[in-house]
Order: sequence, then structure tokens, then C-alpha cells
Amino acid sequence: MKYKIYNILIINNINNNKFFFNDEEYQCTLPVHPSGHLPLYPFLFANKSKISYFCRDLLCRMIQKYPSLLLENAVNEFAKLPGIGRKTALRLALHSLKRTQEEVDTFGKAIIMLRKDINYCSVCHNICDDETCNICSDLSRDSSLICVVENIKEVMAIENTAQFRGLYHVLGGIISPMDGVGPGDLQIESLVERVKNGGIKEIILALSTTMEGDTTNFYIYRKLSNNDVKISIIARGISVGDEIEYADEITLGRSILNRTNFKDSIRL
Ligand SMILES: [Zn+2]
Repeated sequence: MKYKIYNILIINNINNNKFFFNDEEYQCTLPVHPSGHLPLYPFLFANKSKISYFCRDLLCRMIQKYPSLLLENAVNEFAKLPGIGRKTALRLALHSLKRTQEEVDTFGKAIIMLRKDINYCSVCHNICDDETCNICSDLSRDSSLICVVENIKEVMAIENTAQFRGLYHVLGGIISPMDGVGPGDLQIESLVERVKNGGIKEIILALSTTMEGDTTNFYIYRKLSNNDVKISIIARGISVGDEIEYADEITLGRSILNRTNFKDSIRL
């Protein structure tokens, strides 16, 4: 681990995890020890006139100065979005200033209305504007076929393939003890209810091919195994455009096991 040595002269100015160094204001990214020491106090050595710290540079970041509190607030809010760092947040905030007042109002209103008025389908838990979603209300779709997915994004991805004409069931996540997500946090009981209500011939499990996804698949399989319903899983194999020699053994092995009729493969 690489450490930097900072000589912090104005050490008494640590307030709300902030301190000054060479006239620049820094924010500690970990809580400061009640004694006023920086979070790196295990590495501290001190003498009477000057206090020095071994400071891992990741622990502190310089507080960027903004010419306006309104701009800083906007940057703080943009930076809370997933995948948006502070530099991008600043770019987005400055871009908002270039747009007309009407455009910014429409943008803000869309976000507020989204959070306030969005509904979840009472049948499949997909996002919708009414009580049931467009897919569940579409009588031309095959209601005996249910594709189980993790989130709404997967519904959109599968719909874009135009290969599936059944209905969906959105779990709202997958079982992940590390993240504190158990079966009770997901829409699994409502799936069991749907199956018990009858009329469903096949459940297609289309979850992530991760350990958490496999755990969830197995849990659902156990829950539904006493019902007269076929439970299938989406094929796992080589991606389109991939070369066989670069595929990992597990994927290649599964592709051999899950081989399909050539005639069926040329239909796509
Ligand atoms: Zn629905």
C-alpha cells in the first residue's frame, strides 16, 4: 500500500470531518476520531510543534470550491445518481444552465411525476401507469407461459427480442444474503399464488447466471415443484459472435449439453 506523508499544520481546524492543508480544504471520507485525529491515527506520530500523519491519499479528498451554493447543491444531487462522478455531475449541472427554463421544468417534472405516480402491475409487478401492465392486459399473449425475471430492465430486454409472447413475473431482485436480500424481500410468494390459481403450464427462469441467480432459481424450483407446472431455464451458451476457443469451459460445456436442433437455430 502506498502512503503519502502530509504535514498538517492547522490541525485544530478539523470540523465536521473537514480540515485545511496548505490553504486547501479537505474532506475526510471516514469519520474523524473524537480526539480530532484524522482517521489514520494508527499511523500518527507527533511532536509538540508540528503534527505529521501518514495519510493514505484515498482517505481525504480536496473539497472543490463552487462559485455558487445553488450550483453545488445541483452537483451534489447529480453525483448521487449511479455511475455519475462529481466531474460528470458538474458537467450535467452546467449543461442544465444552458437549457431553456421550460426544458428544465419539463425535466424536473418528469422525475417528480415518475416517483410520485408510477404504479406496479398487480399481477406481474412490472412498472405501469394503471393497475395492470400492457403485457398482462394483452389478451393475444399466451397466459400459460410465465417468464420469471429479476427486474423491469430484463422485461424490456426480452420484449426487444420479439421472441416471447407469454407473460412475465418480476421478482424485484435475487436472493443475495451478502446484500441482505432474502426470499421474503422478493415477489416469490405471489409467483407461487399465480401458479396455484391455475392456467399456467410453464415457468421459464430467466435470472442472472451468477451464484445468487442459481440460488434463486433453485429456491423457486423447490417452491413450485409440488405443482403441475413445467419449470424451464433459459439456455446458457456461447454468445453470438464469440469464438469457441475463447469460451470458458463451463459455458462451452453447457453449450454442448444444451445443444439445439439446427433447423430451430436458423429460424432466428
Ligand atoms: Zn403485468
